[in-house]
Amino acid sequence: MEFAGIEGIGENGPLVIAGPCSAESESQVLRTATQLRDVGVRIYRAGIWKPRTKPGGFEGIGKAGLEWLQRVKREVGLYVTTEVATKEHVEASLSAGVDMLWIGARTTVNPFAVQEIADALRGVDIPVLVKNPVNPDLELWIGAIERLYGAGLRRLGAIHRGFSTYEQKVYRNIPLWHIAIEMRRRLPGLPLICDPSHIGGKRELVGPLSQQALDMGYEGLMIESHEDPGSAWSDASQQVTPEALGVLLGGLVVREELQTTEGLSELRKQIDEIDEELLVLLSKRMRVSREIGVYKKEHNMAVVHSGRYQELLEARSLSGQAMGLSGEFVRELLRGIHEESVRQQTEILSGQAMR
Ligand code: PEP
Ligand code: MN
Repeated sequence: MEFAGIEGIGENGPLVIAGPCSAESESQVLRTATQLRDVGVRIYRAGIWKPRTKPGGFEGIGKAGLEWLQRVKREVGLYVTTEVATKEHVEASLSAGVDMLWIGARTTVNPFAVQEIADALRGVDIPVLVKNPVNPDLELWIGAIERLYGAGLRRLGAIHRGFSTYEQKVYRNIPLWHIAIEMRRRLPGLPLICDPSHIGGKRELVGPLSQQALDMGYEGLMIESHEDPGSAWSDASQQVTPEALGVLLGGLVVREELQTTEGLSELRKQIDEIDEELLVLLSKRMRVSREIGVYKKEHNMAVVHSGRYQELLEARSLSGQAMGLSGEFVRELLRGIHEESVRQQTEILSGQAMR
């Protein structure tokens, strides 16, 4: 897929989209926009149709909000963007002159809805940003981009807003950065925008997450900002005032484009060699594991011994930690290795050919 650029991306510094989670009143929309313009923001976001987890909450101001966004364009001079989830939202937004659209995380999960939006946009040249689906499924995220691309849209981008989990401590939506990195590898020309507000869920996390995204080469940030965050009708704990946003943006360090120098090439060569060694070791481990499989088959034993697996996880994560690796990383790595090991032994037990 060949993407066309989105204005403002690739200039010095990240593209910043900021504005309230929800448009609440005309004065809130206009005042917040004016304050954001004064700290250098050029693209204003506001949700008009709000997908809420439970009924009975504030589900967005609806179409009336489009008139407020028109005033923001005309009187404050910002570009405006809003979330669309149906063909009616698309049509209303286009006739109101909204400059950019985004598809929310709860919509990206639904191919029918994404296709309906894509069809409604056929023949229209407007930038569309696609948030990751709530579940960590890269194919679903890419599928949504493909549906829009198939309808002729080229000014596309991806918003990384993190993923839902049943149990969460630090983040509202766990980032799982590797999924966004894999997105970059699969669709290298697609701009990546980080939404630290929905990842963090707390104001204090917005700055550090923004810096982390820039360090990882993201092209833009979408940050929720409200004139009075504490009294916001949705997502109150994660919004920042325009003033705080100005301070946050001023403190971000934009890294130089990576230049390949001799020192770096040497280090990369070392990494390549170590990766090869790791693969050799892993294949050696799998050979032993298959031998165990043969033994288990001869003795009519089951493949998985959960006690053994638990012991192994604990022991390795401790020794990994002693070597400066995080326990979580070691456990994640071992989970992958164990899964492959079990797969190979199961093949043996079910009598399939050994490779
Ligand atoms: C939003 O941007 O306010 C929103 C609803 O986000 P998400 O789709 O990421 O939950
Ligand atoms: Mn929100």
